[in-house]
Amino acid sequence: SKTISIGIVGYGNLGRGVEAAIRQNPDMKLEAIFTRRDPGSITSGTPMVSIANIEQYKGKIDVMILCGGSAKDLPEQGPSLSKHFNTVDSFDTHALIPEYFGKVDDAAQSGGHVSVISTGWDPGLFSLNRLLAEAVLPEGKEYTFWGKGVSQGHSDAIRRVSGVKNGIQYTIPREEAVERVRGGSNPELTTREKHLRECFVVLEEGANAEAVASEIKNMPNYFADYETIVHFVSEETLRAEHSSMPHGGNVIRTGKTGLDKENTQLIEFSLKLDSNPEFTASVLVAYARAAYRLAQTGQTGAKTVFDVPYGLLSPKSPEQLRKELL
Ligand code: NDP
Repeated sequence: SKTISIGIVGYGNLGRGVEAAIRQNPDMKLEAIFTRRDPGSITSGTPMVSIANIEQYKGKIDVMILCGGSAKDLPEQGPSLSKHFNTVDSFDTHALIPEYFGKVDDAAQSGGHVSVISTGWDPGLFSLNRLLAEAVLPEGKEYTFWGKGVSQGHSDAIRRVSGVKNGIQYTIPREEAVERVRGGSNPELTTREKHLRECFVVLEEGANAEAVASEIKNMPNYFADYETIVHFVSEETLRAEHSSMPHGGNVIRTGKTGLDKENTQLIEFSLKLDSNPEFTASVLVAYARAAYRLAQTGQTGAKTVFDVPYGLLSPKSPEQLRKELL
């Protein structure tokens, strides 16, 4: 079958992750990377093209993988590009997904393309597992734990505190809470009981450490509802020990079955990631294959992970999959 030609839109962490992931998928070829910056100012082994010229690639690129940020980039780029291309993205502002779906769906329908939105791991693989567990165990309770991992939003919040030069925040699930959930008692857990937050902070010269720690710990929405640990480190330590982007987490559901609900059943899906963007990118690439195939069968419009048959993610044929993986 034909090699699927791919374009990357936006060259940040996720964009670089997609560039690497394509190399592990011989049925795909990376044609170009599109950026809003001056293409000459960015070095990469792939042709860099100004996003202003993207429409010249209509018909040449089967799927555009959108790697822009969810806050500012995708709300604009998603609908505008799905008019012209099949797309895949990792829009992750959970509360705004229905609205984003509507806009992308209108654009993709009008252009006759398929756009898989909000894939990655959460939303994405975690969403699939929440759905599966809920459908299989209707009488149960679902728990999602995140981490240990870097939260970009919380790290940004630390950096806005006056006296802070730089900083990073890890979200850490509390092991005792995870164990209680696995025990099947369906505990009611407060925010504070589920996760703790650990911060590594570089102070500006002359800043008051105690005041900074207190401002972080009491920050509403971000930290006030959690146990928060603040460490002060040097810029060198932060760079040396905290510049990778690990993440992960668990989706767990326990439910009861049997006439007297005498049996406890547990479903758990877990991820432990050295690099959040490289893993997210790998998921996007598998969904790009599915988007291409859906488009080949004449489908159009926005899709989420719930709408994409699993088999389409694999480069293997249905016959091969039945033989090897069923
Ligand atoms: P980045 O901030 O690294 O990149 C976002 C965009 O910013 C890029 O597409 C790029 O666009 C621009 N950019 C990148 N580097 C620079 C720079 N040095 N100077 C100026 N502009 C730059 O974000 P990430 O790649 O880390 O994450 C993208 C999104 O992925 C996140 O917003 C998040 O929503 C989503 N995500 C989703 C997950 C999921 O599970 N669903 C998991 C992880 C992330 P351009 O090249 O056009 O300038």
